[in-house]
Amino acid sequence: MSSTNRSVAIIGAGQTGISAAVGFLNAGFDVTVYSDRDQAGLFRDVSATGTAVTFGLSQESEAALGVDTFAGRAPQVTGISARTITGSGHDYTELLDFDADFPGFEAIGVDTRLKVDERITQFQDKGGTFLVEEVDPDRLDTIAGQHDLTLVATGKGGLSTLFSVDEARSPYKSPQRSVLLLTVEGLDHGPDVFAHRSAAGGKHQAFNFADQGEGWWGPYLHKDAGPSWSFLGWAQPGSEWERRFQSVTDAHSAHKVVIDLHREYFDWDLPEVLRTRVIAEDPHSWLQGAVTPTVRNALGHTASGHRITALGDTAVAYDPITGQGAQSGFIQAAGLVAAAKDHQGEFDDVWITETYNKFLTSRVDAANLATRIFLRDPVFADYASVLFPAAATNPKFGAALFGLLSDPSPVLSINSVDDAKSLITAVAGEDADSILAKFAPVGRFSRSELDALASAI
Ligand SMILES: Cc1cc2nc3c(=O)[nH]c(=O)nc-3n(C[C@H](O)[C@H](O)[C@H](O)COP(=O)(O)OP(=O)(O)OC[C@H]3O[C@@H](n4cnc5c(N)ncnc54)[C@H](O)[C@@H]3O)c2cc1C
Repeated sequence: MSSTNRSVAIIGAGQTGISAAVGFLNAGFDVTVYSDRDQAGLFRDVSATGTAVTFGLSQESEAALGVDTFAGRAPQVTGISARTITGSGHDYTELLDFDADFPGFEAIGVDTRLKVDERITQFQDKGGTFLVEEVDPDRLDTIAGQHDLTLVATGKGGLSTLFSVDEARSPYKSPQRSVLLLTVEGLDHGPDVFAHRSAAGGKHQAFNFADQGEGWWGPYLHKDAGPSWSFLGWAQPGSEWERRFQSVTDAHSAHKVVIDLHREYFDWDLPEVLRTRVIAEDPHSWLQGAVTPTVRNALGHTASGHRITALGDTAVAYDPITGQGAQSGFIQAAGLVAAAKDHQGEFDDVWITETYNKFLTSRVDAANLATRIFLRDPVFADYASVLFPAAATNPKFGAALFGLLSDPSPVLSINSVDDAKSLITAVAGEDADSILAKFAPVGRFSRSELDALASAI
């Protein structure tokens, strides 16, 4: 069957919904997007739904959908430096410190509001229909009856409860972290920035792991400020960090929490953080909340029995520690477009289920396992206790560990500590036990000399 005259409805113009819409349009479908906000409101009146950094493979999915990945337009990001401490306040031990280039890809961090804005324009310019209305279950019933394929991409909340939870793939019943996001300006991406952590300076993201949670800085392209930095903090449930995060009410209070966190826990990075400024033009440059990681069944039915399909965060919501959500949305969308284009006949229960199962087994299962390892879930603590020291000791494995952010599939081979060691040995080309025998806690991290460098200029 030709794609001509086959119709797709997409509910929700977040980055996943609108990118899928462009992809279906390019594949020859008639596409209508239903959005609860108009284009200006999506750009101006909401926060970005996450940092939404893409790492490698997901950029290929964006390209397959026919949307711009922003490569060359956003600050260049070539790797990550990671540091781990244990202890609290100023009384901590500095354990791991390593810096790795991403293996064969660069990361791209772009404001989801900017991506959405560009893609709505692209979609309409190409002849797509963009309707502003909040779709409720009754209206969804009508829409689904009028289209060959109806995709629900309304995010984690929205209409997601119309899809049942895949309990076997959703082991958590509550969030594993409270999350704080803040985008700031004032700090550039030159070689002096974070130079104490990496020779790549401001081209590497900076990750800190502590007992109460984690903190991360990444180069970013903000919709108003342009090249900027995004901070993400994760706090363990019930921790003192969580109380701090939950006290945030605006960008300024978020900024104060971020500065205090670095003053008290990550002071090696403090000079960089003190250079940052709140973005005055954007009252929505911050986000505070928590995600219960959830995998839903993608096939649902409306009251009259019409089929609907979950897409993006509506289908799978991840804790953001391994940056999988936005990436997963693009990969799912590209897979759906490719499968729909080639499909002859109705998009029936079998087609929806088979297409989704392929996505689950090729991406979601690995992405969730990698996320649980990075969350230091006690179930997988034994794996983390060999993977991270090995990464700190062997640069090749360090790069491979962060390669999981692009392609998490290697973790599916890990079912025991011995499997984790086999992966280390295979990647590093050296026996894992001999690598781990060389590991020694750092003792004391190098501190930022950004202010000293600046005053010497
Ligand atoms: C703090 C944080 C950091 C993150 N970092 C990363 C990262 O580095 N990398 C990564 O890949 N992922 C990351 N993520 C995840 C990523 O941001 C999300 O997966 C992604 O933005 C979700 O996009 P979406 O389009 O599926 O949903 P959303 O962005 O939530 O879009 C849903 C859209 O539907 C609309 N809508 C809702 N209800 C209705 C309705 N009834 N009718 C019509 N429209 C409706 C909403 O207004 C919205 O526009 C992060 C998430 C968080 C919270």
